[in-house]
Parts: sequence; structure tokens; C-alpha cells
Amino acid sequence: MTPLIQIQSLKKYFPVYGGLLSRVVAQVKAVESVSLTIRRGETVGLVGESGCGKTTLGRMSLRLIEPTAGQVLFNGQDILGMDRSNLARIRPKMQIIFQDPYSSLNPRFTVERLIGEAMLVHGHTNAAGARQKIEALMDQVGLSPRYLNRFPHEFSGGQRQRIGIARALALDPDYIVCDEPVSALDISIQAQIVNLLKELQAKRDLALLFISHDLAMVKYLAHRTAVMYLGRLVETAPTNKLNSEPAHPYTQALLAAKPSLDPRRREPRTVLEGDVPSPLTPPAGCYFHPRCPEVMDRCRSETPAATRLDEDHIVHCHLYTEATTVPQPRAHHE
Ligand code: SF4
Repeated sequence: MTPLIQIQSLKKYFPVYGGLLSRVVAQVKAVESVSLTIRRGETVGLVGESGCGKTTLGRMSLRLIEPTAGQVLFNGQDILGMDRSNLARIRPKMQIIFQDPYSSLNPRFTVERLIGEAMLVHGHTNAAGARQKIEALMDQVGLSPRYLNRFPHEFSGGQRQRIGIARALALDPDYIVCDEPVSALDISIQAQIVNLLKELQAKRDLALLFISHDLAMVKYLAHRTAVMYLGRLVETAPTNKLNSEPAHPYTQALLAAKPSLDPRRREPRTVLEGDVPSPLTPPAGCYFHPRCPEVMDRCRSETPAATRLDEDHIVHCHLYTEATTVPQPRAHHE
């Protein structure tokens, strides 16, 4: 079956201006040749350290940011080549849930308007129908329809994120980008919101791109996980496989850095040394080479190509270029 979302060789370079004439003096390579698919009814987790390009990639997949190059197909249709009217037709099917439930809701709008406005603008229903649908949506996200006329400041952070989720669902989308949707919330509330997303995803057969730096959260929610480092994807695999047999040294280090609740498994760990290089001046070859415990000569000059280890398991690393099976990594991981 054709995936609902097909991201192909997507790039985003942001120009850096300088000098008296404000000329372009450099480019920040935020996303570099990323390819990824998301099937209908599938949650793909996108993980990596902050600043690695996760949010930029998610927004480009919705065309909220214009890519520098590459393609995004939604249900087989090239959304980057679409004119405004065709894009407006398809937009209701592609939504986003933002990280910050405090700033993403207009404080002057009631819940009714926040959730219902898009339905009226897109002509999905009339005022009476919208009201009924808003009440049903509030019920689905665990908010009492009695709160219809309240304003965002009258709600807690978790409740505001429920409003954000109801708003994203209002136009019956097929695809939602969840951009760190729980990272601004208290730990006690995070699980509630993640469970709600999991339940809604299954009920509505949604395709979700769940962006997070929290591997435990992604492990719980995502069918597949993609790991990003400095604008490039380094590994994509079914979530269980990625956690049990991580192939890329960066994935291994990320998993090893995750604290274990089991005291017998706390040490030793692979510790990620050094800082993430600047996307303004990324290293040659494999971007991870200055921090990689497995680095070889060719890593310093050659960009690793994608190697398919298994049907759904792809890694970008010279350790595997000619491998047919996953070699045992030298670095320890849990
Ligand atoms: Fe490490 Fe080389 Fe693999 Fe990059 S390509 S992750 S430097 S072994």
C-alpha cells in the first residue's frame, strides 16, 4: 500500500546574511536530504537532540516551511508543486499540534471559537452543526462541553493541550504532526496526553509524526522510530527493533544515555562526548564522526549512504555499507 506521507530527499538551508550589503554569506543546513514515509494508521517517532532539525522537517512535511529542495507527497499528490487553491483543499487533512499549549491558543478566543473556527472557514458545517461537533470533540479529548465559553487562561496546561488536540481534529485530518506536544507539560500530565493521542490515533486511523527528544515516550507511542542527527536521518526502524538492536553508534549512545530504572543495568554506559557541531559548518563525511567511538578513516570524508539491514530497518553508517547482518557493536548499550 502506498504510504500516506512520502518525504523524499527533503532539504532546508536557511541563508545567513552579513556585510554592509546584507549578502548571503553562509547557509545553515537545517535538514539535509531526508527521506521518510508514514503509512495511514502509523505513528512514526522522530527523535534527536534539540536543534537537529526535527521541527523543521515536521513543518516542511505540512508545507508550513518551504523546503529548499525535495518532495513531499500526500496520498500520492506532490504538495510542494501545488498552487494555493489546491493546497487549501488538502490542508484540512494535514494538521499540527504545537509544543506550547500556552502560546498556541489565541487568548481572546473562547474554546468554541478556537475549535470551531476552522470548520466554518473551510465550510465543513454550519453554526449549529459546528456546535454539535465541537461538543463531541471536547468529549473525545476529555473536556467537559460545559467549558465551551471559557477562555484559554481559565484552563491548566494539560487542558489547553487537550483543546489544541481537539482543534487539530476538527477537520477530520488524516495526518498530524505532533511537535513535542507534551514537553511543556508537568510530568504527571504528560502520560495522560500521550495516552489520549495513542487512543485517538488508533480510533481514527491517523498517521502521526511524533517529534520528541524523549525516547521512552516514543518507545511507548511509535510503531517506527527515525533518529536524526544534525539535519540527517541516521537510522529508521520498527520501534522495538531500534530499542533492542540499535545499529547506528549515535542511536546506541542515545539509548545508553537514557536512565534505567533497573539498578542492575545502570552501568556502564556509552556517554556521548563533545557537543553537536554547528549546522553552519558541519564536519565533512559522516556528521557524527567527531563524536563517534567507532570512527574510521573513510568516515571523515565520505557521507554514508543508506543501508537496508532489514525490511524496515535502514541505517546510514559505514560500518554497515557492505553488511548483510547487523554486526555486534563495540560500544556497550543497555
Ligand atoms: Fe561512526 Fe563512521 Fe558510522 Fe559515522 S559512519 S557513525 S563515524 S562509524
